[in-house]
Formats: sequence, C-alpha cells, structure tokens
Amino acid sequence: MNQCRVIAVANQKGGVAKTTTVASLAAGLVELDRRVLVVDLDPQACLTFSLGLDPETVEISAHDVLLGRVSAGMAVVRTKDGVDLLPATIELAGCEAMLLTKTGREYTLRAALDELRADYDVILLDCAPSLGVLTINALTAADEVLVPLQCETLSHRGVGQLLDTVHDVQRLTNRELSVLGVLPTLFDGRTAHARAVLADVAGRYGLPVLEPPIAKSVRFAEAPAAGRSILQTAGRTPGAQAYRTLARTLAGLPAAPADDAAEGDVTGVPAPAAPAVIDLTDQVLTR
Ligand code: ADP
Ligand code: MG
Repeated sequence: MNQCRVIAVANQKGGVAKTTTVASLAAGLVELDRRVLVVDLDPQACLTFSLGLDPETVEISAHDVLLGRVSAGMAVVRTKDGVDLLPATIELAGCEAMLLTKTGREYTLRAALDELRADYDVILLDCAPSLGVLTINALTAADEVLVPLQCETLSHRGVGQLLDTVHDVQRLTNRELSVLGVLPTLFDGRTAHARAVLADVAGRYGLPVLEPPIAKSVRFAEAPAAGRSILQTAGRTPGAQAYRTLARTLAGLPAAPADDAAEGDVTGVPAPAAPAVIDLTDQVLTR
C-alpha cells in the first residue's frame, strides 16, 4: 500500500457500528503495520472517547481544522492503539452552520487532509449519523465509502437515501468516489431474517457485501470504556477476528489460516459452544 486510501464509513442511521468499525478496523490495520489515521467527524465525539481521549479536554480538534484555524497535522494525536486520531469535540456541531456560509464548503476536509496523505496508508473517516455538510465533506474527501448495515427490517430505506447522496457527490464534487460495500454489523447469523435482509439490500442496490459479517457480541460494549479497540480488550473473540479479517482484505493480504474457524461462527452456521471457538482461535492467532 504505497498510495493512501481514504475510506469514509457512513450511514445516516445511528447505532449501526460506524464508530466501532472505524476503531476496530484501524486497530486491525495497525497490527498489519499499516500507518492509519482516523478522523472523528461526529460532534458526539464517540470515536475520540473510544480511543481514550476525553473530548472535553481536547484543545485542537476537527472543528479548528475545518474552520482553517490550524493545519490538520497540528490536531493529530497518537492513541494507545497506535492509531493516529484527528479528534472531535462538541464544537463540531457549530461547524456545520459555519461551513454552510463558505465557498467550496464541500471540499474543506479534502483540502485539509491533503497534507497528511503522504504520511498514511489508510485514512478512515467516522461520519456522524446525518447526511449534512460534514458527511458530504467526508464523501468528497474519500476514495471509497464503506456502509455498515444492521440487518433488520427496513434497513434498505436508509441505504437508498445514502446512495442517492453518494451519487450526488459522484456527480458534483468527487467523481472518483466508489462504494466499497456494505458491512453487516451486529449480525445474528442464526436468524434467517438477518440473512434475508442482507440479501435483499445487496440485490436491490447491487452492492458488494463485505466479509465476514460482524457478529453481535456484548464484548463490543466494553472496549470504548477502556479507551481501546476490541482487538485489545477481547482480541480473540469472533468479532475481533472478523475485523482482523476485514483489515487483511483491505490491506490486500490473504486471509490468515485461523479465519475459517472465526467465519464459521459468524456467517450463519448455528454457533457452536462459544468457549471452543475462543480456544481454537487463541492458539492460532496469538501474536
Ligand atoms: P454508530 O457509530 O453507527 O452510531 P457505534 O459504533 O457507536 O455506532 O455502535 C453503537 C452501539 O453498538 C455501541 O454501544 C457499540 O458498542 C455497539 N456495537 C457495535 N458493534 C457491535 C457488535 N458487533 N455487537 C454488539 N454491539 C455492538
Ligand atoms: Mg458513531
């Protein structure tokens, strides 16, 4: 990976694991020795908090960068996971209104990130749950968009609206933008319903489905409080392994040998007893 890839993780629905995906995928890519920057574009600053920073004490943030007060490099901090973070604070909420009055407002983030592209292999943009000017900025700055999708009834409604926005961006501000695919998150492969919704959404919009689906697991809730990603707090669980597999795919590497075991658990085969799976992956994937 010589050229930097900028990937926006977007879905205007909240709670579909955008932030979790950014934090976990970033940690997975760092394990593969990739240089990774994540950008928090949500005024709720959940990514910033999840990576161990208190948004209330952050002094220079995405807000200052987007308003042109500082360069992006000045706002970047290194986190415990080895991921670089351009943090957010609640001030970002006001940024939206201020950007609206600016010429070329859609290009502000793209221009700000230009100076950093040479320093990273991957830049992941964590979008807010809206299709407002901050998300348009992310889609304009990105090469690709990844759409986390919780497979439940009516999930497709939001996807249609998001894809309309993506098409507008492709037409007006970023011809090069492509859709990397939908990532099934909070996935319960044991129910036929989740699989049916996924097949419906993928077929209806002709979208690639990224593998493996990320299984639902209570262990995901623990990571943000520790300020680390799930790869550190519960690194051998199927959820962490799934993000590792996705990171390998994005990095252009073949799947690791133990991935078969983890995948079996999350793709719909009724789950075997959990401890057996954890033991298996323990042995093969400990670094
Ligand atoms: P978003 O950024 O789309 O709003 P988050 O990443 O903040 O979504 O996730 C919403 C909630 O779901 C969080 O509490 C997170 O810990 C939880 N979560 C994320 N992924 C999973 C998963 N695979 N299994 C269970 N809970 C998850
Ligand atoms: Mg979020």
